[in-house]
Amino acid sequence: MSECIFCKIANGEIKSEILYKDEQVVAFKDISPRAAIHFLIIPVKHIPTVYDLEEEDNELVGHIFQVAKKLADEYNIAESGYRLVVNCKEDGGQEVFHLHFHLLGGEKLGAFC
Ligand code: AMP
Ligand code: ZN
Repeated sequence: MSECIFCKIANGEIKSEILYKDEQVVAFKDISPRAAIHFLIIPVKHIPTVYDLEEEDNELVGHIFQVAKKLADEYNIAESGYRLVVNCKEDGGQEVFHLHFHLLGGEKLGAFC
């Protein structure tokens, strides 16, 4: 059995506020939101970091971006805009080693880069 917290969220072992789910992708609310809207979009498949993506995952990554669009529509931030963030490993500030895309919006976000 996996010890990974996001695998446990994906398979329902740990409760979370799920916003979207299909065979490949799950989206849920970040437990510690840093913006008015702060969701996490993850692959069901355990991929530790963005650096671990393989060519065969290209379609999956494209699908994640489509799920982000769908959530942006549902939560009315498609027009106002949003930010997708992926932290990678220590210097990138990654804390959970199961690939996740932060979807942030619902307010004017500070300049980042
Ligand atoms: P990162 O620093 O990019 O690895 O981001 C990990 C994110 O996961 C943080 O924003 C946490 O607030 C969030 N997080 C950790 N545990 C949970 C959980 N059980 N449910 C929802 N979000 C979580
Ligand atoms: Zn995992």
